[in-house]
Parts: sequence; structure tokens; C-alpha cells
Amino acid sequence: MTMIEKFSQLNKENKAILATNFYNFETLKGVLLAAKQTKSSIILQLTQSSIDYMGLEIAVNMARTALKYYQVEGWLHLDHGASVQLAKRCLDAGFDSVMYDGSELPLSENIKNTRQVVEYAEHYNANVEAELGYIPKLGQNTNKKGYTEVNDAIKFVKETGINSLAVAIGTVHGFYKGTPKLNFERLKEIKKAVKIPLVLHGGSGIPDADLKMAVANGINKINVATEIKNIFTKTIKQELNKSDEIDLRKTFPPSIDAITNLISKKILTINN
Ligand SMILES: [Zn+2]
Repeated sequence: MTMIEKFSQLNKENKAILATNFYNFETLKGVLLAAKQTKSSIILQLTQSSIDYMGLEIAVNMARTALKYYQVEGWLHLDHGASVQLAKRCLDAGFDSVMYDGSELPLSENIKNTRQVVEYAEHYNANVEAELGYIPKLGQNTNKKGYTEVNDAIKFVKETGINSLAVAIGTVHGFYKGTPKLNFERLKEIKKAVKIPLVLHGGSGIPDADLKMAVANGINKINVATEIKNIFTKTIKQELNKSDEIDLRKTFPPSIDAITNLISKKILTINN
């Protein structure tokens, strides 16, 4: 099944899939074991930083081989592609889906660039995600509001031909300072207007009830990255403090287990 077909199924059934970022073999193994245990499919995401860190071919081959090894149905997705060129490079490398993120550009420029990615992705029958509105990135002002405008969304979807849209409804990247407040009314309005699969970025730290509410109101993909990095690093710190063990095959497994637990719970939350 292609990513586009999977999304169309999720959209019809009013369901969502979890999309998790991975940074190395350990984080990849952790999320895949969670998908396997819960008998769920998953989207594996890479950002430009992760691609630069691991190397594109290594990251792609590692993800593909691991999906096969753990017998998990999954798709490979570029998260926050900042340039048309990077999106094309990932499509050439065999990604099932790419995000072109021109959300900080003027609408017309975002449309023009996204359109180029859509045209290129059509050769591969690959999914294209784009973003409208302001979802603060790490280090950006989280007090500024910039919900996705319904009229912009209608124009954007029509003129670009994208397959899925990341919406700004009050989530932020990284951890939340207070309790996140999501604008479900706006989400409903956008979904009613564009009808395509919608994506929630900044899924880390959103209360379970809100995640469910988001799915019930039109979200079909939920991104989680920060919580994975956080639990991985925290667990390693604890392990290293416990003993002078130098065998990394003994120090890493508790972190992998912690990720598996975290992601299994998330999957069960959004599936039920
Ligand atoms: Zn994001």
C-alpha cells in the first residue's frame, strides 16, 4: 500500500497514524518494536539534521531493512524539508512521502515551491505534505499565535495539489510550558473545507484526551519527536550513572525499551 492509499483509508475511517522521528539505530528499533507489539503500521520520519547526521543512504537503507526485519508496515517520510531540492533528493532516494515546509514564506511563494515538489513527487506516486500557519519551531516564540486560515487552506490545497496538510491549531514543537490549548473549532472548519488528510505537528506532551479529540475532528497523522529524544537521553543518563559499564550493548537497551513503552502507549491512545 502506498502512503497516499494509506492516508485515503485513514481519512475515510476517521483514524490517524503515528509518525515518529528516528535518529540512530536505537531510536529506530525502539519505535519499530512498539509498532510490532501493537500490530500497527507507522511512519518513520527523518529531518534534514538526521539525514546529515546518519547520511541519506544509510538512514534510508537502515529504515527499510529494519521495517522488513521487524515485519512492520511502514513508510519513510521527510519531516520539515526546507527546500525543494532536499525534497527532490529524498524522493530520488526512495522516500514514500515528503514534507515541504514553506510555512514561513509568503503564501504565493509557499504555493509555488510546494507545487514544484508535488509535480516531482507525482513521478514516484509519493505523498506530499505541506504546512500552513505558525507552528513554532524549537527556539521560536511560542506566545505568538498563527492558526491556519481556512481560506488560505482552501486556496493552498487547490493550487498545489498536495496530499496532506499540516495545520497550526495551537501546537508547538518541543515541550509545552503550560497546558497546550488546541483550537478544535478551527480544525473542524479546515477539515470541512479541504477534506484531505490533516497532520498534527508538535504531538509531544499533548494530553491523551486532546490527541483523541484531534483525531475525532480530522487529524490523520500525529508527529512525535521530542518525547523520543527526551526519554532516550534521560534513560541513558540514568544508566551511565548507575555503574561503570562500558558495553554499549548493555547501556542502550533500557533506552530502547523506554521508547518502545512510550510509543506503544501513544499508538494505543490514538487507535482507541
Ligand atoms: Zn513538525
